[in-house]
Amino acid sequence: MMGSIVLFGPPGAGKGTQAEIIVEMTGKPQISTGDMLRSAVSQGTELGLEAREYMEAGKLVPDQVIIGLIKDRLSESDASNGVLFDGFPRTIPQAEALSEITEVSAVISIAVPDEDIVNRIVGRRMDPETGEIYHVSFKPPPPELSNRLVQRKDDNEETVRMRLAAYHNQTKPLGDWYGNMGILSTVDGTGTIQEVSQSVANAVRNL
Ligand code: AMP
Repeated sequence: MMGSIVLFGPPGAGKGTQAEIIVEMTGKPQISTGDMLRSAVSQGTELGLEAREYMEAGKLVPDQVIIGLIKDRLSESDASNGVLFDGFPRTIPQAEALSEITEVSAVISIAVPDEDIVNRIVGRRMDPETGEIYHVSFKPPPPELSNRLVQRKDDNEETVRMRLAAYHNQTKPLGDWYGNMGILSTVDGTGTIQEVSQSVANAVRNL
């Protein structure tokens, strides 16, 4: 399929985890604005310094900053046959800007109710050496890794509530926006990682 795919959903829906199967099936590179911003923060770049306070407060980074980041990334050669966006766009202005740069062919929305989100995020852990994401109860890490795992600074309950509010106020309307364009497929994001992957794979096959 030509064009780009957007993976849509609340924080903690499993977008990063489910991106893997879509990358495998389509060969499109994954572009995660959250990962790009975290890498800028850890490298201490100007962008990182600017983004950091928003991220730690659970707020969205300003649209102009994100749009600039995406424009640069899409100019790289691996992006020429479309990409998989994970965590972008998150506002209608971002989606409008994107529509001027590249074609979005499909949006896959992973639906998870609010009451599940906090547990999913607060139990999340990452292996900094491999980037693999675990969950203390839903995807327990091998015990030998447990002392090198890290928790994202914004994965605490207070910040999660702010991120969820930003999702409802700024991001969720975008689901309807893409729905009206007729390119949205919604999958049930509850259930096991394998079950959700099956639904995501079916949605990709039906594109
Ligand atoms: P994520 O890893 O997608 O949960 O993103 C972590 C944080 O990075 C978010 O809470 C925002 O502060 C920021 N962020 C990531 N992507 C975007 C975006 N598309 N627009 C605005 N802020 C973003």
